[in-house]
Amino acid sequence: MAALTNQRIDGTRLWDTLMEIAQIGGTPKGGVKRITLTETDRRGRDQFKAWCEAIGLRVRMDSMGNMFARREGRDASRAPVLFGSHLDSQPTGGKFDGALGVIAGLEVMRTLDDLGIVTEAPLELVNWTDEEGTRFGRAMMGSGVWAGLFKEDAVKALKDEDGVTVGEALAAIGYQGETPAAPFPADALFELHIEQGPILEAEQKQIGIVTGAQAQIWYEATVTGQDSHAGTTPPVARKDALLTAARIVELVDATMREGGSGGIADTGRGTVGRMYVLPNSPNVIPGEVRFTVDFRNPEDAWIAQIAEEFPKKADAIARANGCVLALKPVFRVPAQPFDPECVGLVAAAVEKLGYTSRKMVSGAGHDAVHTATVIPTAMIFTPCKDGLSHNEEESIQPEEAEAGTQVLFEAVLARANRAM
Ligand SMILES: [Zn+2]
Repeated sequence: MAALTNQRIDGTRLWDTLMEIAQIGGTPKGGVKRITLTETDRRGRDQFKAWCEAIGLRVRMDSMGNMFARREGRDASRAPVLFGSHLDSQPTGGKFDGALGVIAGLEVMRTLDDLGIVTEAPLELVNWTDEEGTRFGRAMMGSGVWAGLFKEDAVKALKDEDGVTVGEALAAIGYQGETPAAPFPADALFELHIEQGPILEAEQKQIGIVTGAQAQIWYEATVTGQDSHAGTTPPVARKDALLTAARIVELVDATMREGGSGGIADTGRGTVGRMYVLPNSPNVIPGEVRFTVDFRNPEDAWIAQIAEEFPKKADAIARANGCVLALKPVFRVPAQPFDPECVGLVAAAVEKLGYTSRKMVSGAGHDAVHTATVIPTAMIFTPCKDGLSHNEEESIQPEEAEAGTQVLFEAVLARANRAM
């Protein structure tokens, strides 16, 4: 492993640049609305490109509008080390979700320039298109096409609420590149991101060393009972689909908590986030309820157990309440571990810098989870206030951004200079 440097990034310049990009799409409440492939996104991209070109980086984009800002290395035969995140935001997003990873990457490039460092491998700073999925309903879109997980034609045909397709929106802002969105030989990818959860803050840790992303299984459920009169139907004659659904929601919650300690570091997740009640009338016992179920856990075995047991338990609840349950699995992804060597470089940087840290699994999806399927990948988390994200109040401290960026700098440099 290459020796780590004693060089420091410029925390003030990093923070000033974060505040500057936050003005593009800045909201009165202090958040950011920079929805993918809009005119505001274009302005953010233009600014990012200008900053990159000002320090001599060569910026190219692929057919999904993913942007790559390249800094040559000493050895032209080596594949580039990638790092970055996304500049798009939720409609009521914060200043740091995504932007931190991109602007930190820019600070890494600027620092290398200041110090006159030429790495062995080339470096490429990435801005992935549409991580948030808020406009076209497909999260981590650009990285998903790049990694070959989504078909480009199908993604390009996705429409927003106004009927505008991804392809049309890309062309409209002038970010439809020539090179195909597909994995090119790359040595590794590092993504710095805010945690978007409460654990680092609660445990007063400066850095999260992310070891992977959790496994997920999602269902669509329909409970069918019988519509009947609220005033005349006695308890024994009821087939109440909403009551049944409520008892299944309780089962989801109990399943989530099973095996946990009840503490903040519990890893199980189980959520019913959407429900439709029919006929949705105040004086009719609901005859049909449709809802979603979303389970997540770092352990594939836990998800496998849920896939085995949850449908049976939920079905038993439905039958006990005189209803019928149709449960359709709609989505299942295995846990995605990150590359042990890349994770090791992050851990080595943290140790060298003397930051407090903990290993953790990402609760949210990230572009890095997609790239991890094709190239060695790792992530670095920094704390955020109250674990709040996808919210205009999202907040981090300048020293937290600086620490995360310093770790990114060390990890990228060590990877790019490693002996081959
Ligand atoms: Zn993000």
